[in-house]
Amino acid sequence: MDTIELTGLTSGELRQLMTQWSEPAFRGAQVYNWIYKGLVDNIDGMRNLPRTLRTMITQRAVLDNLAVERISVADDGLSEKILFQTKDGQYIESVLLSYAERCTVCLSSQVGCALGCLLCATGQSGFVRDLSAGEMVSQLLYFSRQLKQEERHITNVVLMGMGEPLLNYDAVRQMLRLITDPAGLGIGARRITISTAGVIPGIERLTEEDLGVKLAISLHAPDDALRSKLVPLNRRYPLARLITAAAKFTKHTGRRVTFEYALAAGINDSMEQAQRTAQLLAGLYCHVNLIPLYETLGCNYKPSAMDRILAFEEVLQKSGIRTTIRLRRGGDISAGCGQLRGMELADEDEDEQ
Ligand code: SAH
Ligand code: SF4
Repeated sequence: MDTIELTGLTSGELRQLMTQWSEPAFRGAQVYNWIYKGLVDNIDGMRNLPRTLRTMITQRAVLDNLAVERISVADDGLSEKILFQTKDGQYIESVLLSYAERCTVCLSSQVGCALGCLLCATGQSGFVRDLSAGEMVSQLLYFSRQLKQEERHITNVVLMGMGEPLLNYDAVRQMLRLITDPAGLGIGARRITISTAGVIPGIERLTEEDLGVKLAISLHAPDDALRSKLVPLNRRYPLARLITAAAKFTKHTGRRVTFEYALAAGINDSMEQAQRTAQLLAGLYCHVNLIPLYETLGCNYKPSAMDRILAFEEVLQKSGIRTTIRLRRGGDISAGCGQLRGMELADEDEDEQ
Protein backbone atom coordinates (compact mmCIF):
# COMPACT_ATOMS: atom_id res chain seq x y z
CA MET A 1 0.00 0.00 0.00
CA ASP A 2 1.41 3.40 -0.96
CA THR A 3 -0.32 5.50 1.66
CA ILE A 4 1.52 5.80 4.95
CA GLU A 5 -0.35 3.82 7.57
CA LEU A 6 0.23 5.30 11.01
CA THR A 7 -0.77 2.03 12.69
CA GLY A 8 2.02 0.20 10.87
CA LEU A 9 4.84 2.35 12.28
CA THR A 10 6.76 1.92 15.52
CA SER A 11 7.37 4.85 17.82
CA GLY A 12 10.89 5.22 16.39
CA GLU A 13 9.59 5.13 12.81
CA LEU A 14 6.99 7.80 13.61
CA ARG A 15 9.72 10.00 15.05
CA GLN A 16 11.76 9.49 11.88
CA LEU A 17 8.75 10.35 9.77
CA MET A 18 8.27 13.62 11.60
CA THR A 19 11.93 14.46 11.13
CA GLN A 20 11.59 13.77 7.40
CA TRP A 21 8.68 16.16 7.36
CA SER A 22 10.87 18.78 9.10
CA GLU A 23 8.90 18.53 12.33
CA PRO A 24 10.45 17.89 15.74
CA ALA A 25 10.90 14.15 16.43
CA PHE A 26 8.91 14.31 19.68
CA ARG A 27 5.78 14.88 17.58
CA GLY A 28 6.17 11.27 16.46
CA ALA A 29 6.10 10.09 20.07
CA GLN A 30 2.98 12.17 20.64
CA VAL A 31 1.26 10.61 17.64
CA TYR A 32 2.21 7.16 18.95
CA ASN A 33 0.78 7.98 22.36
CA TRP A 34 -2.47 9.16 20.90
CA ILE A 35 -2.84 5.96 18.91
CA TYR A 36 -1.98 3.45 21.66
CA LYS A 37 -2.72 5.23 24.93
CA GLY A 38 -5.31 7.80 23.87
CA LEU A 39 -6.81 5.18 21.52
CA VAL A 40 -8.12 7.94 19.24
CA ASP A 41 -9.70 6.83 15.99
CA ASN A 42 -9.02 10.01 14.04
CA ILE A 43 -6.12 12.37 13.54
CA ASP A 44 -8.10 15.42 14.65
CA GLY A 45 -8.43 13.79 18.05
CA MET A 46 -4.67 14.24 18.60
CA ARG A 47 -5.36 17.43 20.48
CA ASN A 48 -1.89 18.52 21.55
CA LEU A 49 -0.63 18.60 17.95
CA PRO A 50 -0.77 21.94 16.13
CA ARG A 51 -3.70 22.14 13.76
CA THR A 52 -1.37 22.61 10.77
CA LEU A 53 0.43 19.39 11.63
CA ARG A 54 -2.85 17.49 12.02
CA THR A 55 -3.87 18.74 8.57
CA MET A 56 -0.55 17.66 7.11
CA ILE A 57 -0.81 14.18 8.64
CA THR A 58 -4.37 13.82 7.35
CA GLN A 59 -3.21 14.70 3.85
CA ARG A 60 -0.23 12.36 3.83
CA ALA A 61 -1.19 9.39 6.01
CA VAL A 62 -4.11 7.33 7.32
CA LEU A 63 -5.01 6.25 10.82
CA ASP A 64 -8.31 4.52 10.15
CA ASN A 65 -7.40 2.06 7.40
CA LEU A 66 -10.30 -0.30 8.16
CA ALA A 67 -13.99 0.57 8.05
CA VAL A 68 -16.50 -1.46 10.06
CA GLU A 69 -18.94 -3.05 7.67
CA ARG A 70 -20.89 -5.28 10.01
CA ILE A 71 -20.94 -6.40 13.65
CA SER A 72 -22.31 -9.82 14.63
CA VAL A 73 -22.74 -10.87 18.23
CA ALA A 74 -23.24 -14.33 19.77
CA ASP A 75 -22.88 -16.21 23.08
CA ASP A 76 -24.85 -13.54 24.98
CA GLY A 77 -22.53 -10.82 23.79
CA LEU A 78 -19.34 -12.69 24.68
CA SER A 79 -18.36 -13.37 21.06
CA GLU A 80 -18.26 -10.58 18.56
CA LYS A 81 -17.29 -10.81 14.92
CA ILE A 82 -16.42 -7.70 12.95
CA LEU A 83 -16.45 -7.57 9.18
CA PHE A 84 -14.03 -4.84 8.11
CA GLN A 85 -13.58 -3.26 4.72
CA THR A 86 -10.05 -2.30 3.72
CA LYS A 87 -9.21 0.87 1.80
CA ASP A 88 -9.09 -1.13 -1.44
CA GLY A 89 -12.52 -2.62 -0.88
CA GLN A 90 -11.53 -6.06 0.46
CA TYR A 91 -13.30 -7.74 3.35
CA ILE A 92 -11.64 -9.29 6.37
CA GLU A 93 -12.92 -10.50 9.70
CA SER A 94 -11.75 -10.45 13.29
CA VAL A 95 -13.33 -11.91 16.38
CA LEU A 96 -13.33 -10.87 20.04
CA LEU A 97 -13.90 -13.65 22.55
CA SER A 98 -14.53 -12.42 26.10
CA TYR A 99 -14.01 -14.65 29.09
CA ALA A 100 -14.18 -13.85 32.80
CA GLU A 101 -10.53 -12.96 33.13
CA ARG A 102 -9.31 -12.53 29.56
CA CYS A 103 -10.18 -11.03 26.20
CA THR A 104 -8.84 -12.86 23.19
CA VAL A 105 -8.78 -11.36 19.72
CA CYS A 106 -8.59 -13.62 16.68
CA LEU A 107 -6.80 -11.71 13.91
CA SER A 108 -6.72 -12.12 10.14
CA SER A 109 -3.31 -11.96 8.48
CA GLN A 110 -4.29 -12.13 4.79
CA VAL A 111 -7.29 -11.44 2.56
CA GLY A 112 -8.21 -15.03 1.72
CA CYS A 113 -5.63 -17.79 1.77
CA ALA A 114 -3.68 -19.60 -0.94
CA LEU A 115 -3.42 -22.92 0.87
CA GLY A 116 -6.88 -24.26 0.10
CA CYS A 117 -7.44 -26.54 3.09
CA LEU A 118 -10.51 -28.66 2.54
CA LEU A 119 -12.09 -27.93 5.92
CA CYS A 120 -11.67 -24.19 5.83
CA ALA A 121 -13.99 -21.49 4.50
CA THR A 122 -11.11 -19.06 3.92
CA GLY A 123 -9.20 -21.66 1.93
CA GLN A 124 -12.21 -22.29 -0.24
CA SER A 125 -12.37 -18.67 -1.36
CA GLY A 126 -8.77 -18.33 -2.63
CA PHE A 127 -6.07 -15.74 -2.01
CA VAL A 128 -6.34 -12.02 -2.65
CA ARG A 129 -3.43 -10.31 -0.87
CA ASP A 130 -1.39 -10.03 2.29
CA LEU A 131 -2.54 -7.64 4.98
CA SER A 132 -0.12 -4.91 5.99
CA ALA A 133 1.16 -4.64 9.56
CA GLY A 134 -0.99 -1.51 9.93
CA GLU A 135 -4.12 -3.40 8.90
CA MET A 136 -3.42 -6.11 11.45
CA VAL A 137 -2.74 -3.60 14.23
CA SER A 138 -5.92 -1.72 13.30
CA GLN A 139 -8.00 -4.85 13.89
CA LEU A 140 -6.67 -4.92 17.45
CA LEU A 141 -7.05 -1.20 18.00
CA TYR A 142 -10.72 -1.43 17.10
CA PHE A 143 -11.30 -3.83 20.00
CA SER A 144 -8.97 -1.93 22.34
CA ARG A 145 -11.04 1.22 21.88
CA GLN A 146 -14.23 -0.66 22.56
CA LEU A 147 -12.88 -2.49 25.61
CA LYS A 148 -11.48 0.72 27.07
CA GLN A 149 -15.01 1.96 27.62
CA GLU A 150 -15.61 -1.09 29.84
CA GLU A 151 -12.21 -0.62 31.50
CA ARG A 152 -11.03 -3.88 29.96
CA HIS A 153 -8.22 -4.60 27.54
CA ILE A 154 -7.00 -7.26 25.13
CA THR A 155 -5.05 -9.93 27.00
CA ASN A 156 -4.51 -12.56 24.29
CA VAL A 157 -4.11 -12.58 20.53
CA VAL A 158 -4.38 -15.57 18.20
CA LEU A 159 -3.53 -15.43 14.51
CA MET A 160 -6.31 -17.83 13.64
CA GLY A 161 -8.51 -15.66 11.47
CA MET A 162 -8.25 -15.52 7.71
CA GLY A 163 -4.93 -16.33 6.11
CA GLU A 164 -1.64 -18.07 6.75
CA PRO A 165 0.47 -15.80 8.98
CA LEU A 166 3.78 -17.48 8.16
CA LEU A 167 3.29 -16.65 4.47
CA ASN A 168 3.11 -12.98 5.47
CA TYR A 169 6.05 -13.16 7.84
CA ASP A 170 7.56 -9.67 7.63
CA ALA A 171 4.28 -7.86 8.18
CA VAL A 172 3.35 -10.24 11.00
CA ARG A 173 6.71 -9.59 12.64
CA GLN A 174 6.27 -5.83 12.40
CA MET A 175 2.76 -6.17 13.85
CA LEU A 176 4.16 -8.21 16.76
CA ARG A 177 6.79 -5.56 17.40
CA LEU A 178 4.05 -2.96 17.61
CA ILE A 179 1.52 -4.77 19.77
CA THR A 180 4.06 -6.07 22.29
CA ASP A 181 5.67 -2.66 22.84
CA PRO A 182 5.18 -1.83 26.55
CA ALA A 183 4.80 1.83 25.56
CA GLY A 184 1.91 0.83 23.30
CA LEU A 185 -0.65 -1.95 23.72
CA GLY A 186 1.89 -3.96 25.71
CA ILE A 187 0.46 -7.39 24.98
CA GLY A 188 2.80 -10.07 26.35
CA ALA A 189 4.46 -12.12 23.59
CA ARG A 190 3.61 -15.30 25.50
CA ARG A 191 -0.03 -14.44 25.16
CA ILE A 192 0.19 -14.33 21.39
CA THR A 193 -0.21 -17.47 19.28
CA ILE A 194 0.70 -17.86 15.65
CA SER A 195 -1.20 -20.67 14.00
CA THR A 196 0.18 -22.26 10.84
CA ALA A 197 -0.89 -24.98 8.46
CA GLY A 198 2.76 -26.08 8.51
CA VAL A 199 4.87 -23.59 6.55
CA ILE A 200 8.23 -25.07 7.53
CA PRO A 201 10.50 -22.17 6.42
CA GLY A 202 8.31 -19.86 8.53
CA ILE A 203 8.52 -22.16 11.55
CA GLU A 204 12.29 -22.26 11.14
CA ARG A 205 12.52 -18.49 10.97
CA LEU A 206 10.31 -18.17 14.01
CA THR A 207 12.61 -20.60 15.82
CA GLU A 208 15.75 -18.67 14.88
CA GLU A 209 14.36 -15.24 15.62
CA ASP A 210 12.50 -16.39 18.74
CA LEU A 211 9.96 -13.61 18.95
CA GLY A 212 8.64 -14.98 22.24
CA VAL A 213 5.30 -16.00 20.80
CA LYS A 214 3.57 -19.36 20.95
CA LEU A 215 3.24 -21.65 17.98
CA ALA A 216 0.20 -23.68 16.99
CA ILE A 217 0.20 -26.14 14.10
CA SER A 218 -2.96 -27.30 12.35
CA LEU A 219 -2.48 -31.05 12.25
CA HIS A 220 -5.90 -32.63 11.50
CA ALA A 221 -4.49 -36.02 10.47
CA PRO A 222 -1.74 -38.39 11.66
CA ASP A 223 -0.70 -39.74 8.23
CA ASP A 224 0.52 -38.08 5.05
CA ALA A 225 -2.17 -39.49 2.75
CA LEU A 226 -5.09 -38.05 4.71
CA ARG A 227 -3.27 -34.87 5.74
CA SER A 228 -2.36 -34.10 2.13
CA LYS A 229 -6.04 -34.32 1.28
CA LEU A 230 -7.15 -32.06 4.13
CA VAL A 231 -4.17 -29.68 4.09
CA PRO A 232 -2.68 -29.70 0.55
CA LEU A 233 0.46 -27.94 1.83
CA ASN A 234 1.37 -31.30 3.37
CA ARG A 235 2.50 -32.51 -0.06
CA ARG A 236 5.23 -29.91 0.05
CA TYR A 237 6.01 -30.17 3.76
CA PRO A 238 5.14 -33.69 4.90
CA LEU A 239 4.58 -34.77 8.49
CA ALA A 240 8.05 -36.09 9.30
CA ARG A 241 9.63 -32.74 8.39
CA LEU A 242 6.86 -30.83 10.16
CA ILE A 243 7.36 -32.73 13.41
CA THR A 244 11.12 -32.18 13.18
CA ALA A 245 10.57 -28.43 12.73
CA ALA A 246 8.17 -28.42 15.71
CA ALA A 247 10.70 -30.30 17.84
CA LYS A 248 13.39 -27.75 16.99
CA PHE A 249 11.03 -24.94 17.92
CA THR A 250 10.33 -26.37 21.38
CA LYS A 251 13.96 -27.21 21.97
CA HIS A 252 15.20 -23.79 20.99
CA THR A 253 12.50 -21.70 22.68
CA GLY A 254 11.59 -23.93 25.61
CA ARG A 255 7.93 -23.42 24.74
CA ARG A 256 5.30 -26.06 24.13
CA VAL A 257 3.80 -26.38 20.65
CA THR A 258 0.04 -26.70 20.29
CA PHE A 259 -1.40 -29.02 17.67
CA GLU A 260 -4.90 -28.26 16.48
CA TYR A 261 -6.97 -31.16 15.32
CA ALA A 262 -10.48 -30.55 13.95
CA LEU A 263 -12.50 -33.75 14.28
CA ALA A 264 -14.70 -34.72 11.36
CA ALA A 265 -17.01 -37.72 11.69
CA GLY A 266 -15.70 -40.78 9.90
CA ILE A 267 -12.74 -38.87 8.42
CA ASN A 268 -10.06 -38.40 11.06
CA ASP A 269 -11.71 -39.45 14.33
CA SER A 270 -11.14 -43.23 14.60
CA MET A 271 -9.41 -44.78 17.59
CA GLU A 272 -6.68 -46.00 15.28
CA GLN A 273 -6.10 -42.43 14.11
CA ALA A 274 -5.97 -41.34 17.74
CA GLN A 275 -3.29 -43.98 18.38
CA ARG A 276 -1.31 -42.86 15.36
CA THR A 277 -1.53 -39.25 16.48
CA ALA A 278 -0.18 -40.29 19.87
CA GLN A 279 2.71 -42.12 18.18
CA LEU A 280 3.46 -39.18 15.92
CA LEU A 281 3.66 -36.75 18.84
CA ALA A 282 5.34 -39.08 21.32
CA GLY A 283 8.18 -37.39 23.17
CA LEU A 284 7.39 -33.94 21.83
CA TYR A 285 6.76 -31.08 24.28
CA CYS A 286 3.26 -30.35 23.04
CA HIS A 287 -0.40 -29.96 23.69
CA VAL A 288 -3.28 -31.08 21.48
CA ASN A 289 -6.39 -29.00 21.03
CA LEU A 290 -9.31 -31.04 19.73
CA ILE A 291 -11.89 -28.91 17.93
CA PRO A 292 -15.26 -30.27 16.87
CA LEU A 293 -15.28 -29.45 13.14
CA TYR A 294 -17.16 -26.31 12.18
CA GLU A 295 -19.30 -26.83 9.15
CA THR A 296 -18.56 -24.69 6.12
CA LEU A 297 -20.43 -24.21 2.88
CA GLY A 298 -17.86 -25.84 0.63
CA CYS A 299 -17.26 -29.03 2.60
CA ASN A 300 -19.83 -31.67 3.50
CA TYR A 301 -17.94 -33.20 6.44
CA LYS A 302 -19.80 -33.30 9.74
CA PRO A 303 -18.42 -32.71 13.22
CA SER A 304 -17.63 -35.82 15.27
CA ALA A 305 -20.07 -36.74 18.03
CA MET A 306 -19.05 -35.71 21.54
CA ASP A 307 -18.53 -39.29 22.78
CA ARG A 308 -16.08 -39.83 19.91
CA ILE A 309 -14.23 -36.62 20.75
CA LEU A 310 -13.97 -37.68 24.40
CA ALA A 311 -12.71 -41.14 23.39
CA PHE A 312 -10.10 -39.56 21.08
CA GLU A 313 -9.01 -37.31 23.93
CA GLU A 314 -8.69 -40.28 26.26
CA VAL A 315 -6.39 -42.18 23.89
CA LEU A 316 -4.07 -39.18 23.67
CA GLN A 317 -4.13 -38.51 27.39
CA LYS A 318 -3.40 -42.14 28.22
CA SER A 319 -0.31 -41.83 26.02
CA GLY A 320 0.83 -38.90 28.13
CA ILE A 321 -0.13 -36.15 25.68
CA ARG A 322 -1.80 -33.13 27.20
CA THR A 323 -5.09 -32.71 25.38
CA THR A 324 -8.02 -30.34 25.68
CA ILE A 325 -11.26 -29.95 23.81
CA ARG A 326 -11.80 -26.43 22.57
CA LEU A 327 -15.22 -25.17 23.54
CA ARG A 328 -17.41 -24.06 20.73
CA ARG A 329 -17.75 -20.30 20.57
CA GLY A 330 -19.35 -18.06 18.00
CA GLY A 331 -20.66 -20.91 15.85
CA ASP A 332 -23.96 -19.22 15.07
CA ILE A 333 -22.21 -16.14 13.69
CA SER A 334 -19.72 -18.15 11.65
CA ALA A 335 -16.94 -16.88 13.88
CA GLY A 336 -15.47 -20.31 14.51
CA CYS A 337 -12.06 -21.36 13.26
CA GLY A 338 -12.07 -21.86 9.55
CA GLN A 339 -15.39 -20.15 9.10
CA LEU A 340 -14.05 -16.69 8.45
CA ARG A 341 -14.38 -15.83 4.84
CA GLY A 342 -14.75 -12.09 4.67
CA MET A 343 -17.37 -11.82 2.01
CA GLU A 344 -20.85 -10.50 2.05
CA LEU A 345 -22.76 -13.74 2.42
CA ALA A 346 -26.30 -12.45 2.63
CA ASP A 347 -28.04 -15.82 2.61
CA GLU A 348 -25.77 -17.57 5.03
CA ASP A 349 -25.67 -14.71 7.50
CA GLU A 350 -29.30 -13.67 7.41
CA ASP A 351 -29.96 -14.72 10.98
CA GLU A 352 -27.24 -12.40 12.26
CA GLN A 353 -29.05 -9.18 11.59
N1 SAH B 1 -3.70 -20.53 8.42
C1 SAH B 1 -3.52 -20.81 9.78
C2 SAH B 1 -4.35 -19.95 10.70
C3 SAH B 1 -5.78 -19.71 10.31
S1 SAH B 1 -6.86 -21.09 10.40
C4 SAH B 1 -3.74 -22.29 10.06
O1 SAH B 1 -4.23 -22.98 9.18
O2 SAH B 1 -3.40 -22.72 11.14
C5 SAH B 1 -7.19 -21.20 12.13
C6 SAH B 1 -7.53 -22.59 12.64
O3 SAH B 1 -8.82 -23.03 12.21
C7 SAH B 1 -6.58 -23.66 12.16
O4 SAH B 1 -6.23 -24.52 13.21
C8 SAH B 1 -7.43 -24.40 11.16
O5 SAH B 1 -6.92 -25.64 10.91
C9 SAH B 1 -8.74 -24.38 11.83
N2 SAH B 1 -9.86 -24.74 10.99
C10 SAH B 1 -9.99 -24.50 9.67
N3 SAH B 1 -11.19 -24.94 9.24
C11 SAH B 1 -11.81 -25.47 10.31
C12 SAH B 1 -13.09 -26.05 10.51
N4 SAH B 1 -13.93 -26.17 9.50
N5 SAH B 1 -13.42 -26.48 11.73
C13 SAH B 1 -12.55 -26.32 12.78
N6 SAH B 1 -11.35 -25.77 12.66
C14 SAH B 1 -10.98 -25.35 11.44
FE1 SF4 C 1 -5.45 -21.11 4.97
FE2 SF4 C 1 -5.38 -21.89 7.54
FE3 SF4 C 1 -7.66 -21.99 6.13
FE4 SF4 C 1 -5.70 -23.69 5.57
S1 SF4 C 1 -6.86 -23.56 7.50
S2 SF4 C 1 -6.89 -22.53 4.07
S3 SF4 C 1 -3.93 -22.40 5.91
S4 SF4 C 1 -6.53 -20.15 6.67
